[in-house]
Amino acid sequence: MDFAFDNSFHRDMEGFYAPAEAAPPSAPKLLVFNHALARKLGLDIDGADDDTLVRLFSGEAMPGGANPLAFAYAGHQFGHFSSQLGDGRALLLGEIVAPDGARFDVQLKGSGPTPFSRNGDGKAAIGPVLREFLVSEAMAAMHVPTTRALAAVATGDRVQRERAHPGAVLTRIASSHIRVGTFQFFAAHFGAEHVVQLSDYSIRRHFPDLATSPNPHLALLDRVIGLQCELVAHWLGVGFIHGVMNTDNVAISGETIDYGPCAFMDRFSANTVFSSIDANGRYAYGRQPQILHWNMARLTEALLPAIHAVDPADVEKAKGLVDAIPDRFRTHWFARMQTKLGLASAHEGDAELIDNLFGELETHAIDFTGFFRALATLLRGDASELEALLPQPEVMAPWIASWWAELEREDIHPLERAAAMDAVNPRYVPRNHRVEEALTAAEQGDLAPFQALLEVVRAPYVERADWAAYAGPGPAEGAPYVTFCGT
Ligand code: AMP
Ligand code: MG
Repeated sequence: MDFAFDNSFHRDMEGFYAPAEAAPPSAPKLLVFNHALARKLGLDIDGADDDTLVRLFSGEAMPGGANPLAFAYAGHQFGHFSSQLGDGRALLLGEIVAPDGARFDVQLKGSGPTPFSRNGDGKAAIGPVLREFLVSEAMAAMHVPTTRALAAVATGDRVQRERAHPGAVLTRIASSHIRVGTFQFFAAHFGAEHVVQLSDYSIRRHFPDLATSPNPHLALLDRVIGLQCELVAHWLGVGFIHGVMNTDNVAISGETIDYGPCAFMDRFSANTVFSSIDANGRYAYGRQPQILHWNMARLTEALLPAIHAVDPADVEKAKGLVDAIPDRFRTHWFARMQTKLGLASAHEGDAELIDNLFGELETHAIDFTGFFRALATLLRGDASELEALLPQPEVMAPWIASWWAELEREDIHPLERAAAMDAVNPRYVPRNHRVEEALTAAEQGDLAPFQALLEVVRAPYVERADWAAYAGPGPAEGAPYVTFCGT
């Protein structure tokens, strides 16, 4: 089968990647296929049988027109620079242009070693593959910019981690795979000319409106910072913890990328970390805005040679952009919180209202996702849902009164406001205990819990009585939830 590939990176960016091949799987079997996404991409596979899909999306057969390659990149991992990372277990098949004109990378993840695999096996286990599928679909349904999952195929091979797991390949769709670490790689090894080339390509591909800016590389930096501020505000707004915000896991498109030990928080605590490899809490929920700032400073360093080459005076402007990140982030964050709280416009007291809310959520360990839905239910005249989330019904009374006072400045009917809140505050997110249950069953060959959970998280806003069991937090007792890196 052929795809209508148009492989611009392969064509224009020689030296920025290494050609690579997929390892043939021993007994591939289709786990999940995202037909809706295939249609959106304009992939002509509606009539294809499972065998064809399995061959295409396991690496067994290359679609016609593919130019399989592994991207080169570097990255700061937990604050330490690795000058040589690159796709160690991912293979770009090529780029397709969807019917709406948008360009996408089609990439296999877990299809075997590449020239960048170092000591890794190039493979992926079924658990992390299905976790990425589930969480990225949930993010897309909540309108959080993200890479997508097109297919998951079991390989029939065993993948050795802390123990042996069934192997799988994920087909990832991204508006591109250019990362902060991609810029770092070429800045570290080659210097200004390559950085300019990568920046020019990125602008052509993602932000063509910037091409005519006086200094396009400075404009690129500005744009990427804006998108990342918006993205992290979005994450915080749905209680999401990425888990590994290394610079190689930050896409310049502004999409969430590289779902590894990520998770959603149930009971609120800003220090929440789920990742087994994040012992110091570098990437805790509440630290994500600071890490965003730090990561954008690393992008700035990598772009400086290009910015300087156009106009040395712009180096100061680049530093100014970095210094402005905390304020810029807060603007996005307040705007997001405002809509979550049902406020149609900004008011002077918003910052205090929001800060106080997070104090309350933390003090009483309130379920984050449930809380915002309970506020809308309160507007409908029913306090029981909110009370069920609190240790004593009255603990939130002063905060509720201050929120109410803010609402009263606006002339909006409570039912209308409640509906607007329910349209932005999910009822269903991939709760950790549900994800765990689904992945454990899938590892044993039973995909039913995964399919059921996937259906739920794809429809996050509309409440359904028969989905009540997906709405609440997991049991509070027991060992804290731990996620492992996708490796
Ligand atoms: P990650 O933590 O998944 O973002 O990966 C960091 C780096 O390690 C990237 O360069 C990956 O390509 C590489 N890597 C992760 N897992 C494997 C693996 N199983 N085999 C080879 N390389 C890997
Ligand atoms: Mg990565």
